[in-house]
Amino acid sequence: MAWSFPILRVAGSEVRIHLTFLLLLAWIGLSQYFAYGTAAAVDSVLFLLAVFACVVLHEFGHVLTARRYGITTPDITLLPIGGLARLSRLPDKPSEEIVIALAGPVVNLAILLVLLLFGAQLSTETLTAIENPAPGFIDRLAVVNIFLAVFNLIPAFPMDGGRVLRAALSIPLGRQRATRIAAGIGQGFAFLLGFLGLMSGNAILVFIAIFVYLAAAAEAGQVSLMELANRLPVERAMVVRFESLPTDATVRVAADALLRSAQREFPILDGAGRLRGFLTRDAMVQAIGTTGPDTPVLSAMRPVPSVQTGERLSTALRRMEADRSPVVAVLDGDSRMVGYVCHENIGEILMLNEAESQYGNRPKTQQSGGVSAGSGPSR
Ligand SMILES: [Zn+2]
Repeated sequence: MAWSFPILRVAGSEVRIHLTFLLLLAWIGLSQYFAYGTAAAVDSVLFLLAVFACVVLHEFGHVLTARRYGITTPDITLLPIGGLARLSRLPDKPSEEIVIALAGPVVNLAILLVLLLFGAQLSTETLTAIENPAPGFIDRLAVVNIFLAVFNLIPAFPMDGGRVLRAALSIPLGRQRATRIAAGIGQGFAFLLGFLGLMSGNAILVFIAIFVYLAAAAEAGQVSLMELANRLPVERAMVVRFESLPTDATVRVAADALLRSAQREFPILDGAGRLRGFLTRDAMVQAIGTTGPDTPVLSAMRPVPSVQTGERLSTALRRMEADRSPVVAVLDGDSRMVGYVCHENIGEILMLNEAESQYGNRPKTQQSGGVSAGSGPSR
């Protein structure tokens, strides 16, 4: 996710923190400092860090449960509304998705139990005034865990409850429609939350609403992409007309190619047409700025993942994700590069598919001749 950076690695998962989480930390600390002084500021920052630890544990509830079904989690991103554990793939069975989704809130309830054992008190005061520092630290932390469990069980994307709903709906409706519905409820919920926030002048609520909205939209997009990518062979989405660079080219030559074409990343091919690596626009700019335009492309390029012709587009996407690569090369049986897939043409194939399904959903009488449904814009 953009605007996030890694802070630690636990059990094969990278824990990343989103910039907005740090902003929230700074904002709470400063507002407490100006209102109540240093002690209050330290208390509230420590408290937020404890909340942060509970969120991480919640995410590890998902991560470790997913691992039981053989699903790895390359990273977890911490946002002000909670964490997002990115699963390497969606669980095959709806029942597995339900168990993985519920594991997070269950962790918060377990933390609550532990805090109660350590003497946390749940009075009506602590339940109603969470920002009031008068009740004890662990009392407030107990309340936060109740909140985290309840908030995450709301049946709307991107909350865990939304995943449970999606999994349950996917049994009769299929995953794509189920995701649309859960994401739609998520966006409706976000509007409601935003409205309440604006009416009550609560900026945090508005902030959460924006995040919920964006995350719900992203989730719906991701699922439609994966559903589509599972059906398509990689050849259907790859770029086949491209400029390549020879292994003895310099970055200056690459820069000329960048300007005269719309291409942003250039494959470096040897005499036999075998791929050595890709030179991206960013790497080009960086090389010119640091080692100069005469830098050989071989030292500025990066290796990229590859797939064989005939493999699914989804395989290509997974390799791109796993390597955080901007492109994936498509190789034929002799390891010669026949094309490549980049973010741009994935976006295009999604747009075309969306347009095609809109056309397909129109009443048949409105469809005019020329293009028959199903052939449409695809190759
Ligand atoms: Zn969760």
